[in-house]
Amino acid sequence: MLVVEDDPGIATQLVRGLERAGYTAESVSLGADALRRPPCDVVLLDLGLPDIDGIDVCRQLRQASGTAIIVVTARGEEADRVLALDEGADDYLVKPFGLAELLARIRAVLRRGQRPGGELLRHGALTVDLRTRKVTVDGKDVALTPKEFAILECLVSDPGRLVSRQEIVERAWDEHWYGPTKVLDVHLAALRRKLGDPSLIETVYGHGFRLADP
Ligand code: CA
Repeated sequence: MLVVEDDPGIATQLVRGLERAGYTAESVSLGADALRRPPCDVVLLDLGLPDIDGIDVCRQLRQASGTAIIVVTARGEEADRVLALDEGADDYLVKPFGLAELLARIRAVLRRGQRPGGELLRHGALTVDLRTRKVTVDGKDVALTPKEFAILECLVSDPGRLVSRQEIVERAWDEHWYGPTKVLDVHLAALRRKLGDPSLIETVYGHGFRLADP
């Protein structure tokens, strides 16, 4: 387990608490150090770091691996929570918090990570691992943003089915999105480019999108 925290007092306390609970834990004080580390099971991530904003660290960790990320921060505003969760955090805990609650949240994310089978979806050359959020085409990793992944998840979970623009927007953004769905096109264009085969996602004009037969 990795603690990313620039306050040495909090870092030491967290590492000790985790070790007492039976986990192996280390701490780093810089976002850059966290990104250089090999992936581990769980990262506890402070957002206010001296070098890189924790949100950027969160995004990059999520793109690189299926590590569970629990944001541990003094920033308690709803907008901050939404941003962190959108950028791939699995959970969000506002300081100050009790160690017992932190340990319960760690157990919960680890449990979620252990769901067996059924989460690796294949479609032709494309594989999508819903648990680790890893996407490959012809065995090569494709790094997607959380939005791109959410769009792909909508399409790949029922390949061949026509999914309406509104449905994708509702599932990938949030259920109360009433704005224009134009923003979807931007993410969709990036997704198609990254998947390398623009014909993989078919546009059915006036209706929506579906994955083309492999
Ligand atoms: Ca801090």
